[in-house]
Parts: sequence; structure tokens; C-alpha cells
Amino acid sequence: MKKKIDIHSLYLSLFAITVIPIILLSVIITIFSVKSFRTSMHQEVEKGLEDLCNAILTIYDTTYEGDYHVEMREDGLYMLKGESLLNGDFSIIDNIKEKTGSDISVFYQDTRVLTTIRDNQGERVIGTKASAVVTADVLKKGEKAFYSSVDIEGKKFFAYYAPLVNSDGTCIGMIFVGKPSATVEGLIRKAITPIIIIAAIAMMFGTILTTWYSRHLVNAIRKIEMFLEKVAGGNFHAELEMSVLKRNDELGEMGKYAVRMERALQELVEQDILTKIHNRRSGEKMLREVQNDLYLKGVPFCLALGDIDHFKNVNDIYGHECGDVVLAEMAARMKAHMLGKGFVARWGGEEFLIVYQGKKLEDARKFMKELLDDIRNNDVAYNDLPPFHVTMTFGIVEGSENRLEDIIKAADMNLYYGKSNGRDQVVG
Ligand code: GH3
Ligand code: MG
Ligand code: MG
Repeated sequence: MKKKIDIHSLYLSLFAITVIPIILLSVIITIFSVKSFRTSMHQEVEKGLEDLCNAILTIYDTTYEGDYHVEMREDGLYMLKGESLLNGDFSIIDNIKEKTGSDISVFYQDTRVLTTIRDNQGERVIGTKASAVVTADVLKKGEKAFYSSVDIEGKKFFAYYAPLVNSDGTCIGMIFVGKPSATVEGLIRKAITPIIIIAAIAMMFGTILTTWYSRHLVNAIRKIEMFLEKVAGGNFHAELEMSVLKRNDELGEMGKYAVRMERALQELVEQDILTKIHNRRSGEKMLREVQNDLYLKGVPFCLALGDIDHFKNVNDIYGHECGDVVLAEMAARMKAHMLGKGFVARWGGEEFLIVYQGKKLEDARKFMKELLDDIRNNDVAYNDLPPFHVTMTFGIVEGSENRLEDIIKAADMNLYYGKSNGRDQVVG
């Protein structure tokens, strides 16, 4: 349980150091680019409105000569420029609105005299007042001003105001040029949407890529961990997946070292140092597996115990070292003989266990005789000594589901019989 949490947390840690920064970075970059885009759009709108405002003032100055002034008549207040009456003359401002989409108002003091802005009933909002802030900034101070949000009859505007100043310097009113906020915001939204979509795609792509990579990394570590767990549990035949060994990185190297370590342990635990064949412990383990195959799948087997004849003489005559060479030589011959037939293990001293798997007694006996011929007919060479003759005696039995101790004992009895009846033979 503890292990699962650790593995999980490694994946989470990788996730935290890869995906979270990607998401944060994408969000921050998006917010900043959207903000700076909005700011530059607002500046552009301001500049556009200012230019338009100046153009309108020029048009008025060239169309109507003279100063702005007002006259109180019987039916109300009239605004004029020079001799020309401005009230009711919407031609200039309507024309400009049609061409630019911008609304225009001309104020006498803070009151709209001319305007393109209409109310919900479609009526021009003539006679309405400018807000207190605009009046204070533009009319009182006589300065131009830009507002990113001005409320006119319930509608928000990006607004540019300029004072209407006569030749003697008196400020008689204002001119307003504006664009509905909704229109500008709509344009901004239209331009920003692709930025957000691209950022979202990049973020998604980055997240998928790093998640995929983290998962692969953790999976490889997990496979090595599972492999080492088996080795630590005494299974020296566990296999590490090729996908890990094929990796061209530190994990691949780690996997290769783990496999080498397994092989080294396997040799240390299962191999006989002198003869390089299975030791008794390994032989017994394999024998149990062979018997299990008979029990589960009906695969037959035969078991033989072999012993080098008069081996004591070899030691006594040629020395212990020579005896070791003979042991190794016999083991090598038996190992070569057993290829594809089963296995051989050193049972102890100069005794060997041979197991033929998938063979009936008749075939096994035949193989044993071939082995004896090979041993008998090939003298052993040691240093400068003349090659000398070595023979072996074997006791063989057919495998069964009986207790292994009993099967081995039966083979040993046959071996004993062979020893007492001339040696160099297979009994059983
Ligand atoms: P038999 O034909 O009845 O088997 O006679 P034997 O001489 O082979 O049998 P015995 O049991 O009398 O002698 C076996 C000898 O094998 C005694 C022991 O010193 C020797 N031996 C056991 N292990 C080793 C080994 O690892 N190296 C060497 N050189 N000799 C060993
Ligand atoms: Mg012997
Ligand atoms: Mg012996």
C-alpha cells in the first residue's frame, strides 16, 4: 500500500513540476498579452477619436465662417456659427457618422444642441446635458479629454471631448466624438479570441506532451522497481521488459545494470563455482518444477544419479588440482550432452544429478549409454600427463508423482548396484 502511494507521488511530483508551470505560464502570458492588447486598442481608439474631432472642427470652420454664438429667440435658444444657424443642421455630423460609425454631439455649454445619438424611441437626445465630470474637465478647464467609459442616455461610450473656443478665447461649448463601448469591446473580443484559443491549444498540447512523457518515465521506473522486487524476493529468472532495456537514457542504463546484477546473483546462488553447472540447490528447485510439469501437464521425466568411478585414485595419483579438472571436464561433457534434453547439476563431491524432461525411460537409457560412451572413449588430458581414462556409473529411474526423496533414493540404489557390479554402466 505504502509503495503505491510513493509511485503515485512521484507521478504527482513530475506533474507538479511540469504541467502546473505550463498552465501558470500560459495563463500569465495570455492575461498580459490580452491586457496590453486592450491598452493599445484603447490608445488607438483615443487617437482615432481625437483625429476625427479635429477634422470635424476644421470642417465646421471651413463650412461656416465666424465664431460660435447663441441667440435667444421666441421659441428658444439658437446656436449659430457666424451667420449660419447650427440648430437642425445635421448634415455634417450625420454624414460623418455614416462614414466612420462614430457618434458626434455639439454642445452649447453643457447642453446638446446637435447630436447623432438617439434614445430608445429613435429620437435624437437634443437638450440633454453632459456629465458633471466632463463639464468640469472640458468646459471649466478648457481642455481636451478622453474617457474610456461615459454614460450617455444609458449607453456606454469611448468618448473624446474638445472645447469649442472662439477667436477671442471664450469657451462657448464642447464637441463630442465617441464610439459605443459595445462596438469597441466587440472588436477587441474578436481580435483577442484567436490569442486565447492559440494559448489554450499550446497549453493543452504542452500538458498532454508532459503528461505523456511523465507517465512513460514513471512506467519505466515502475517496471524496474517490479523487476528488482522479484529479484529481491529470490526470483533470479525474472525478466525486465525490452521497452526499458531499449531506452537510450539513464533509466535504460539502470535497467541493464539491474539485469546484470540479477545474472551475477543467479550465478552466485545457482551455479557451482568449480564446474559452472547448476549447484544442488538449483538442481533440486528445477527438479521440483519438472515434477510439477508432470503433475499439471503430464510431461514425463527420468532422473539419474551419476558418480565418477575411483575418483579418489585421481586425486591420490595426480593430485587434487587434477581431480578438479576432471570434475569440470565431466560436468562440461554432461552439460553438452543434456542440451535440449533436460539439465545436469552437481549433487555433491563427484556425484551428479541428471534429469531428462519429456523423455520416457527407454529414450533416457539410450541417451545415458551415449553419454557413457563419450566419457569412456575420450581420455582426459591434464598438463603434461599422458591422457588418462575416466568412467562413470549411473543409476536411473522413471519420474513419478511420488515424493522426490523416494525417487532420488531409488536412483541412488541403482547407482549403488552399478558400483558393486563392475562400474562404468547405467543401471535402471
Ligand atoms: P567409487 O568408484 O566407489 O565412487 O570410488 P571413489 O574413489 O570415486 O569414491 P570415494 O567416495 O571413495 O572418493 C570420492 C573422492 O572425491 C573423495 C573426495 O576427496 C573427492 N572429492 C570430492 N569433492 C572433490 C572436489 O571438489 N575436488 C576434488 N579434487 N576431489 C573431490
Ligand atoms: Mg566415486
Ligand atoms: Mg561418491
